[in-house]
Order: sequence, then C-alpha cells, then structure tokens
Amino acid sequence: MIDNLRHQGLRKRMIDYLSVKRGIDSDSVLKAMMNVPRHLFLESSFLEFAYEDKAFPIGSQQTISSVYTVAFQTQLLNLAPGEKVLEIGTGSGYQTAVLTQCNVEVYSIERHHNLYKTAKTLLSMLNYRANLFHGDGHLGLSRLAPFDKILVTCGAVEVPPLLLEQLRLGGEMVIPIGFKNQIMTLFSKDLDGNIKKKEYHNFQFVPMLRDKE
Ligand code: SAH
Repeated sequence: MIDNLRHQGLRKRMIDYLSVKRGIDSDSVLKAMMNVPRHLFLESSFLEFAYEDKAFPIGSQQTISSVYTVAFQTQLLNLAPGEKVLEIGTGSGYQTAVLTQCNVEVYSIERHHNLYKTAKTLLSMLNYRANLFHGDGHLGLSRLAPFDKILVTCGAVEVPPLLLEQLRLGGEMVIPIGFKNQIMTLFSKDLDGNIKKKEYHNFQFVPMLRDKE
C-alpha cells in the first residue's frame, strides 16, 4: 500500500485539473480528494491512469466513477461537518473514502457481495471509518434513518421513494437519473417535507439494479 511522492504529484495535478479546468471550487472537496490515494482503489495494472479523468473497471462488471464525477457529486452534496450521509453503490470504496475526508458520518450500501467485501477490507486497512452494508440500495437503511444527505453513485431510472423518505427535513439527495445517460439531479426536502428538484448536466453511470448479489 504505497503512496509515494510520485503519486502525490499526480494527485496534485488531478486537483489542479479539477479546479482550473472543471470548475470544482469547493476547498473541502479538493482537500478531501487530495487526501485519498485513488490509485489504491484500482487494480495495479491501472496505476498509471489512476489520476486521469476516466472511469475504470473494478470487477463484477462495475466501474469506479471518474474523478470529475466524484468531485461534482461531492460538491453538490454541500456537506457540513458531522452530517450523516448515506451512499448507494460503494463499488471500489473510493467515493466512500472521499466522503470520510469531508468529516461526515458515512453509511454506504453495495449490492455485489464481492465488491462489498473488498471495499470493507480496503477501507479498514487504510483507516477510513465508514459503515458498510451489503444490500439493495433501493431500500436505504430505514433503521438508521433519517440522513442529512444521500448520494447515489449508480444510474437510477427514477428516484427510489424509500430514499426520499429517509431524507431528513431540510436534507438533500444527489442522484443521477436516466437510462443510457443520466441527468445529475438534486432533490431538496424543505422543512415542511416538500420536495424540490434541480437538474444539472449529463453523466454516465452503471445502472442501479434491483436486489443484492
Ligand atoms: N462510488 C463507487 C461507484 C461504483 S459504480 C466508486 O467510487 O467506486 C456503482 C456501484 O453501484 C456498483 O458497484 C454497483 O454494484 C452498485 N449498485 C448498483 N445498484 C445498486 C443497488 N441497488 N444497491 C446498492 N448498490 C448498487
């Protein structure tokens, strides 16, 4: 598990790219992404590319989200320290690690047992504190609800109603919605429980599937 000066240099370049070229301006998001050694979340054969803005296979036919996607979604969550955050789609655990570096309490669900196990081992080896669950994210985690923020990192055809329910009053959910391409969507629940929706641009995610495997 090596994170050397070369990796740190590549990471710094990734941060400059995100802020200068892609308009990510949240210092806390950039700092969190500078902290997490992304190359450790990819197979070693992808080491050279870990800090390029691409999605990569992580096994079980899934991909790690590109760095811009991670940065954009995390920024949109507008996290405040101490918030309770639910992530759907742990995958490699990279986004999960970035969330922990934003000083929030992280809960994350993955439907693939293999990915769940690998991410759990890796995150604890790297000392990232996150609560991981194997299950179907459509169901959320009712016994631990409500959540201040919910982040979905797979493409949903529509917003899962149970997730909206598990959002606290005043809470927000970031979720990519659509079939082939997904529109990044921000749902805000006001203090009376009314839901407002705001749409951003298109992204490409692996689909949010039913049931666990
Ligand atoms: N945040 C991840 C992104 C992985 S891709 C990362 O940074 O690596 C999306 C992940 O969502 C995949 O691992 C996929 O298995 C998972 N997924 C798809 N449908 C799901 C569901 N219903 N519940 C939980 N996870 C799901």
